[in-house]
Amino acid sequence: MSNCLFCSIIAGDIPADVVARTEHSLAFRDIDPQAPVHVLVVPLQHSADVSELSADHEATGQLMADAASVARELGLAPQGDQSGFRLVLNTGAGAGQSVFHTHVHILGGRDFLWPPG
Ligand code: AMP
Repeated sequence: MSNCLFCSIIAGDIPADVVARTEHSLAFRDIDPQAPVHVLVVPLQHSADVSELSADHEATGQLMADAASVARELGLAPQGDQSGFRLVLNTGAGAGQSVFHTHVHILGGRDFLWPPG
C-alpha cells in the first residue's frame, strides 16, 4: 500500500534491522525500543489493524504463530518463572496505535508488571 511506512520497510525502500522473515511476515527491531528486546512482527500483506486482519482467521493465526516463533528464536521463551515475553497489538489511535499496518510488538528482556502502572 502506498504511503504506508511498514509496506515501505517490507519492500526494502526504508531500511530496518530485520531479525526474521517468513512467507507471511517480517520481523524487525523497533526504532524506539521500550524494553531490552523490542521487535515488531508485521504481515507482508497490508491490513490496517488486527480488527481488520481478523476477518482472515488463517492470517491472524499465522501472525501470532510467527510472533511466538520469533520470540523463541530471540531466547525469550519462558523457563520456569524466569524470562517470558509480552505480545502487544495496539488497535486504534486511542489505544496508542501510530502506524496503521497491523503489527505485533514483542517485548522482552525485563519483567513486566500487570496490570500496567
Ligand atoms: P504502534 O504505536 O503500536 O502503532 O507502534 C508503532 C511502532 O513503530 C512504534 O513503537 C515505533 O517506535 C515503531 N517505528 C516507527 N517507525 C519505525 C521504523 N522506521 N523502524 C522501526 N520501528 C519503527
